[in-house]
Amino acid sequence: MEIEIATIGGYEEVGRQMTAVRAGDDVVVFDMGLNLSKVLIHDNVETERMHSLDLIDMGAIPDDRVMSDLEGDVKAIVPTHGHLDHIGAISKLAHRYDAPIVATPFTIELVKQQIKSEEKFGVQNDLQKMEAGETMSIGDKNELEFVNVTHSIIDAINPVLHTPEGAIVYGLDKRMDHTPVIGDPIDMERFREIGREGEGVLCYIEDCTNAGKKGRTPSESVARRHLKDVMYSLEDYDGGIVATTFSSHIARVTSLVEFADDIGRQPVLLGRSMEKYSGTAERLDFVDFPDDLGMYGHRKSVDRTFKRIMNEGKENFLPIVTGHQGEPRAMLTRMGRGETPYEIDDGDKVIFSARVIPEPTNEGQRYQSEKLLGMQGARIYDDIHVSGHLNREGHYEMLQALQPQNVIPAHQDMSGFSEYVNLCESEGYKMGRDLHVTRNGNMIQLVE
Ligand SMILES: [Zn+2]
Repeated sequence: MEIEIATIGGYEEVGRQMTAVRAGDDVVVFDMGLNLSKVLIHDNVETERMHSLDLIDMGAIPDDRVMSDLEGDVKAIVPTHGHLDHIGAISKLAHRYDAPIVATPFTIELVKQQIKSEEKFGVQNDLQKMEAGETMSIGDKNELEFVNVTHSIIDAINPVLHTPEGAIVYGLDKRMDHTPVIGDPIDMERFREIGREGEGVLCYIEDCTNAGKKGRTPSESVARRHLKDVMYSLEDYDGGIVATTFSSHIARVTSLVEFADDIGRQPVLLGRSMEKYSGTAERLDFVDFPDDLGMYGHRKSVDRTFKRIMNEGKENFLPIVTGHQGEPRAMLTRMGRGETPYEIDDGDKVIFSARVIPEPTNEGQRYQSEKLLGMQGARIYDDIHVSGHLNREGHYEMLQALQPQNVIPAHQDMSGFSEYVNLCESEGYKMGRDLHVTRNGNMIQLVE
């Protein structure tokens, strides 16, 4: 059977991930993501109303025109998890394919919400839920399987396409977490089985984000312990404490909520995306938040809540807000600029349960946000976080487990590939033979 891989997006950047695999007459598309930084760099761009081709020209969504060179039918569109760089282009591209969108329940729910907010295209694709551990047929000869992985968002999987020529493992995005705060540990046993059974692994497509970092990425339970230490140390503080983290990071939000209650503060989630992700997770029973947890998304209800906090005493609350990257319009940045009714006093604490994404825009905005907060007297607790991506030893372990015949580095630009390429070469892979460093819009023929 002919096997061909189209590397469509996310091979020259982090963002707008999209890869298609053709096995015989069947094609499966993995991820359709958005490169948010290409959108945010323009002021006031409303992607909901924009045409796909304009977004492609901006570099915001994958240029999927290369799909016409693939001779087969798309049988499924498979987003691996709910981060925007993996699902954010579905509302702009999926309608061009007569295929269902297949994902885990939490991811499907986020896709559904995104499709609903789309104003330009009517996206009618079937939304099909599939859990980790389950499989579905792709045509007569291929089978799609979801393997449970751990990442900085719940319900993440690595899809595996089993073909007569071997398995194609799509490895974006994961950390090897054996003690995650929510959900099951990564299913390494299944990966090892896949490496051994049948024809073995024909190809492994890997997110090489942290390949340059030594050792292993700590578990989410380490970030949780770190956060607990910080928050418990503030138990006697009788002023304001504000926390911020990734709104899609349900495990972290859960820890923040829990420790707020432990130190006698009522947690409140503020900001539209906080309400969106945590509300969805609660509705789908991934979490069971305490009854006193308030969630407010709209500007008016947020301001009303801030006023209530000021009236009843800041020392009784923990606002958990958006703005960990210093985004100009996010809640924490507005608080720093004094644009909300919440007043920050000398000595008040701001907890960043996040790391700055190392990109000049983020670094600059975050610097500015911290300065503004500092000018009002805030004390900053930074970097209470662990990455959602594998470090070098995690990558090594995956290669050991899967023993892939071919490797394709992904989820980075050329310089980001280099450390992963070094690792693969030290494991006996050779560039141009079985290690395929590629760019957006290329085709790699694995079996002719
Ligand atoms: Zn991700």
